[in-house]
Amino acid sequence: MIVVEELSVSYGAVQALREVSFRAETGVITAVLGANGAGKTTLLRTISGLKEPAKGTITLDEHSLARQKPENIARLGVGHVPEGRGVISEFTVEENLRLGAMMAKVNLSDGLEEQYQRFPVLGERRKQHAAKLSGGERQMLAMARALIAQPSVLLLDEPSLGLAPQVTAQLMHTIRDLCASKGLTVILVEQNASTALRIADHAVILYLGRVVANDAASIIVADEDLRQHYLGKVE
Ligand code: ATP
Repeated sequence: MIVVEELSVSYGAVQALREVSFRAETGVITAVLGANGAGKTTLLRTISGLKEPAKGTITLDEHSLARQKPENIARLGVGHVPEGRGVISEFTVEENLRLGAMMAKVNLSDGLEEQYQRFPVLGERRKQHAAKLSGGERQMLAMARALIAQPSVLLLDEPSLGLAPQVTAQLMHTIRDLCASKGLTVILVEQNASTALRIADHAVILYLGRVVANDAASIIVADEDLRQHYLGKVE
């Protein structure tokens, strides 16, 4: 379980997160929702050690994460799939996966095989450059690259960005399956609230860096005022 307490983060004079507190339970999908600039990406970057907080704590089980180096946080089992996917276009699918496996404690050939079984299209395209993949396939590759290190926590930043609705629906199904089958703790950042709330168990809404809602996804879906205020249209 990840516990975030009173986390404040700034970029110079811009305060991106203000005393943010919430829990992401083990084996559960926690959606982090909110408009542009709400602080969602900053939150994930702070959990994975890419940004240092001004104040507050982040713990993963008994480990304190805040102010640790990103490589140590990755070794503790936190996988981060950044917005825009972060795969290397000039590398083949397999080369991207090998890069992800550099942190892994698993046997590389077993690790590759597991990812090709989970995402068969990556197996078929293992020798192709990532530049040749569709948006949905690139997202799968980014997830597989994080998963090959056998994380216990997966941070997903806007995985649906730029994907067609059908591809997004498939991807969400995969995230749900992953969470259930591997008992992963998933923190899913989405601007597309409808998409995320379809699969999330719990949701946190950020507004200008503050938590304005922190509840079961079903309660947030049922709260029309909250949705209209902070999430726009939720279908
Ligand atoms: P988006 O969906 O647009 O990525 P977000 O909810 O992820 O939005 P953040 O990207 O975390 O929000 O940004 C939170 C605030 O911090 C915004 O006011 C943003 O302008 C500011 N910010 C983010 N990154 C930087 C940076 N590198 N330098 C200065 N300000 C930044």
